Order: sequence, then C-alpha cells, then structure tokens
Amino acid sequence: MGFSRKRILVSGGAGFLGSHLCTRLVEAGHDVLSVDNYFTGRKENIAHLLSNPRFEAMRHDVTFPLYVEVDEIYNLACPASPIHYQFDPVQTTKTSVVGAINMLGLAKRVKAKVFQASTSEVYGDPEVHPQTEDYRGNVNPLGPRACYDEGKRAAETLFFDYHRQHEVRIKVARIFNTYGPRMHPQDGRVVSNFIMQALTGQPITLYGTGSQTRAFCFVDDLVEGFIRLMGTGDEVTGPVNLGNPHEISVRELAERVIKLTGSKSEIVFEPLPQDDPTQRCPDIGLARRTLGWEPQVPLEKGLQATIDYFKGVVRERG
Ligand code: NAD
Ligand code: UDP
Ligand code: UDP
Repeated sequence: MGFSRKRILVSGGAGFLGSHLCTRLVEAGHDVLSVDNYFTGRKENIAHLLSNPRFEAMRHDVTFPLYVEVDEIYNLACPASPIHYQFDPVQTTKTSVVGAINMLGLAKRVKAKVFQASTSEVYGDPEVHPQTEDYRGNVNPLGPRACYDEGKRAAETLFFDYHRQHEVRIKVARIFNTYGPRMHPQDGRVVSNFIMQALTGQPITLYGTGSQTRAFCFVDDLVEGFIRLMGTGDEVTGPVNLGNPHEISVRELAERVIKLTGSKSEIVFEPLPQDDPTQRCPDIGLARRTLGWEPQVPLEKGLQATIDYFKGVVRERG
C-alpha cells in the first residue's frame, strides 16, 4: 500500500508524550497540528518542528470548541503528573470531560478517527494484578486523585457512547507509567524526580517504604503503540493497555538511578501520598495480539537516554 498523507491533530502536542508523537508523525510525512494551552507543555518541546512546513502549533484550550478539518485526532491534552493535575482539580476534570466532548464532536463532524490517551489510573489502586482491560478498577471517587481518574473514566464513557450513538471511530489506549526525554523536570513524577535529585546531589525522596511497584515504559515504545493502534481497522476500539510489563519496586528504581548516574545522593523516606497505588503492572496480551506490539527498550537503556537528557537540563540551568 502506498503512503497516504493525513492531516493529524494532536491535542497536548507540546507535552512530553505529545511532542514525541508530533515528531514521529511529521517524520512520517503527515501534516500535524499541535493544539496546546501550555499549562504543562513547553514550546521548547516542539521548537525543533516549528521550521517544518508540515507542522503547525496552535495555542488553544480544549475545553473550548475547535473547528478545524482533520483526518485523525490524538487527544492527549491533560496534565498527567499528580502535582500538576491536583494544582487545579476542577480544570483537570473539565479538560478530560469537556475536552473529550469537543474532540468527539469535532471527530463526528469531520468523520475523523479519534484516539484517547486514557490511563492505568482508571484501575485506581488495583486488587487484580497484573491489570487486564476487563478489570473495572478500584478508584476512590472522593480522593485527591479522583479529578484525574474519574475524569479519564468519564472520557472513556463518552468515547464509547459517541462510538455507539454516532458511529465515531474510536481508539482508546490505557497508558501505564511512561518516561523519557522531555519529561518535565519538576513534574514530581518518580523518574524525573530521582534523576534530577541524583544529578544535582540532592537526597532521593522515596515515598512510603518504596516497596510499591510500577512498570516503566520508554516513550519511543509507547508512541509506536499509539501509531499501531490508530492504524487498526474500525472494529478495534480498545481499550488497550499500553505499557511495559517489567515491574519493579520504586526502591529498586532509586537504586538503578543512583548506579547509572554514579551519584552520591542518599535515599530519604517521605510519607506515602494518599491513594498511592501499591502495585501496578499492565497485562499487555491484548496489545500483543491486536497490534503485534511490545516494548523493545530495556529499562537501563531508556534510563540512560533520560539521564542524558536531564544532564542537558541541569547544564542549561547552570
Ligand atoms: P504532559 O503534562 O507533558 O502533557 C499534557 C499536555 O496537555 C501539556 O502540553 C499541556 O499543556 C496540555 N494541556 C493540559 N490541559 C490542556 C487544555 N485544557 N487544553 C489544551 N492543552 C492542555 O503529560 P504527558 O505525560 O505527555 O501525558 C499526555 C497524555 O497521556 C495525558 O492525557 C495523560 O493523561 C496521558 N497519560 C500519560 C502517562 C505518562 O506516564 N506520561 C500515563 C498515562 C496517561
Ligand atoms: N465541536 C467542536 N468542533 C466541531 C464540532 C463540535 O469543538 O467541529 C464541539 C462543540 O462544542 C459541541 C461538542 O463538540 O458542543 C459536541 O458536539 P456534538 O455534535 O456531539 O454536540 P452538539 O453540537 O449537539 O452540542
Ligand atoms: N514516588 C517516590 N518519590 C518521588 C516521586 C514518586 O517514591 O519523588 C513514588 C510515588 O509515591 C508512586 C511512584 O513513585 O508510588 C510513582 O509515582 P509517579 O507520580 O511517578 O506516578 P503514579 O503514582 O501516577 O504512578
């Protein structure tokens, strides 16, 4: 089959994942429109694309309607780290819910395929391990994480209702913890915190005992999964888990980062945040079967690339 050039909208295009996705799509020869309100995204993340005539960046908040003509939409707009999404929780829910309505309304009008960046947080603090897509989750609807978790759950509901009611072509991915270059150095997420702390000689802050687990996916692997999911036939709607099934404790992550950076930072213990999931790891059987996808980048290699990126950030700050 020959190449078919598409007009693709990426909401949240100046964020961590969005900027990598825009880069991949532009490199593949598509016309890409990034839509972002720059709440957590940064123009530096897309600076390398601005001189490319196939790329366009628009400042816009997805809680307001957007009228453009496109073939595909990737809806990534939403702050993703706990400190950012808890900064203005009402806006977080609005972004997920009203943002989804606007992107779905747009997809319906122009008959575009629409991808939703959902999250493993829809499983809350899971009682089933590893998590499969049919697990319905254990979310506290009243806690500090709820604006994000419930917002994303409502967005999934909207995606499936627009699909059933209006035949909108949807692709829902449930993304697990992802890391890599262009993560926000101050977003409080564990990989960026540990690396920045290790590189600047600050203590490594381990919340709780550090025995809680996560499974970390390198950004390039994840973006490959996005593109494969978008490329599936209309019968594939998801939700599909996308993440790396290699599970480790947060303490082990701290030790790896210390080793790879050669840092002299010591580990200090801080209280575990409320509703912090004790374990999380994707079952990616569905992604393997439907997309022929699985992560390729081992943790050490991905961490090294991320450390190299953060070394540049530290240098720039002097
Ligand atoms: P990010 O914070 O770097 O990117 C989110 C982007 O959305 C930012 O550029 C931000 O400015 C923009 N944005 C926020 N609110 C907006 C609004 N109202 N209108 C327009 N733009 C808005 O986070 P990320 O890690 O790149 O996450 C991207 C998406 O993937 C999010 O939807 C997130 O929920 C989802 N996700 C990420 C992870 C992960 O590990 N990184 C895990 C699960 C799900
Ligand atoms: N919308 C948009 N761009 C479009 C079409 C719709 O932003 O090109 C928004 C608009 O705000 C609308 C929402 O998407 O309210 C939902 O659209 P839908 O057609 O489902 O509903 P309605 O227009 O009846 O509210
Ligand atoms: N965490 C930690 N120290 C930090 C930042 C996070 O021990 O400086 C822990 C956090 O409590 C959680 C895990 O690392 O158990 C992953 O946190 P992150 O905010 O990156 O992602 P999420 O909790 O959304 O999976």
